[in-house]
Amino acid sequence: MTSEEGRRNLSSRLGIPDGNEPMTTTVHPITKASGRKVKSPAFNVEAVRADFPILKEKVHGKPLVYLDNAATSQKPRVVVDALMSFYTEFCSNVHRGVHELSERATRAYEAARVKAQRFLNAREAREIVFVRGTTEAINLVAASFGRANLRAGDEVLITAMEHHSNIVPWQLLTEEKGARLTVAPINDRGELIFDEFEKRLGTETRIVAVAHVSNALGTVNPVARIVQAAKRVGAVVVVDGAQAAPHLKIDVQTLGADFYAFSSHKVFGPTGVGVLWGRAELLEAMPPYQGGGDMIRSVRFEKTTYNDIPYKFEAGTPNIADVVGLGAALDYLRELGFERPAEHERALLAYATQQIEKIPGVRIIGTAREKAGVLSFVIEGVHPHDAGTLLDQEGIAVRTGHHCAQPVMERFGVPATTRASFAFYNTREEVDALVRGIHRVKEMFA
Ligand code: PMP
Repeated sequence: MTSEEGRRNLSSRLGIPDGNEPMTTTVHPITKASGRKVKSPAFNVEAVRADFPILKEKVHGKPLVYLDNAATSQKPRVVVDALMSFYTEFCSNVHRGVHELSERATRAYEAARVKAQRFLNAREAREIVFVRGTTEAINLVAASFGRANLRAGDEVLITAMEHHSNIVPWQLLTEEKGARLTVAPINDRGELIFDEFEKRLGTETRIVAVAHVSNALGTVNPVARIVQAAKRVGAVVVVDGAQAAPHLKIDVQTLGADFYAFSSHKVFGPTGVGVLWGRAELLEAMPPYQGGGDMIRSVRFEKTTYNDIPYKFEAGTPNIADVVGLGAALDYLRELGFERPAEHERALLAYATQQIEKIPGVRIIGTAREKAGVLSFVIEGVHPHDAGTLLDQEGIAVRTGHHCAQPVMERFGVPATTRASFAFYNTREEVDALVRGIHRVKEMFA
């Protein structure tokens, strides 16, 4: 293979456009390893599983049953390959180089931005800021938008089902500003009580910050309705999309929110990178979050001027490799299509709910009418950590604990739950294994 052919192969795999081709057009094919026809009419879960090498692992001598997708999801081979390609074929810093490798790295990095734009249906690629993850995205909004716009007496309104990452940054901000953090309650199913939410909206409400999907309960929040209500009082809406991005079709223009955050590692991409989407006019008006290289236009000791968005918010060398990996993950999802995997997941959650509900002494925590991906439960007389340890002996990976949502645990009067969380590569047989595992746990504690 000539070096030119090699370059073209690489380009097509990673979505690096050749020459003058626009960056939005290249979508690489899903792994050939599975031999799967991407556009086949039925969702072939076994073929999809073949794209994820780790799913063949054995744990304690048993086949891995990976039901901890809400914590982090597994990666298809194309994502691992993209990381490998970056480090073995075009590792270089971005934006500042004139040499070929730097240009390739920059093209792949910026192509990933366009892929993220498309994934969220954002209006413009410059509205996409690469950060470390959802946590950093929310901290960025709090530290930059929040500090610049919040005054003493103002309010930030959140819900009672938030992850700590969508609570603590607002606590830090409101404490600093002499502002108030208010919380809209949830009902016994784990749904936002909308009337109560509306009652807490007032002219003092500057920011509304809500999870699109709760990580502890699986509840899907009515974000479009929340935005409409928030806009009536002129509040800015920040959406924590960490658990929505792996399961729902996201369209930030339709949702109407102002900021949307998600993490790469939950959408089958690498760890260490995430996306903050923000409306261009808001991002433009916001002060920088961190100072350093790349975020400046010119630096003088007397006065520094800042770069355009999104670079104003990307100080220092970014996580180039993992951004490229995220690009590969978003391509993978696009090729997979949305509807059939989503339908498979919905059916799986319904099946798991039905099976687990039937087990005497098991209580599901979070029974909202609209749910995605998550099944939290407690087993009478068994601490969730013991349940998790025993399930692990069967090769079943679930998460136990407070899931970084201690106020949710308090609301339901439990110290912790066992949480099974699903991805499109999970199967009914895996749900059956979980159900058998729960029976075994109960027998041990009988
Ligand atoms: N919000 C929610 C709803 C989450 O589930 C998570 C991850 N558990 C986060 C925020 C934080 O994401 P990250 O740790 O990737 O920053």
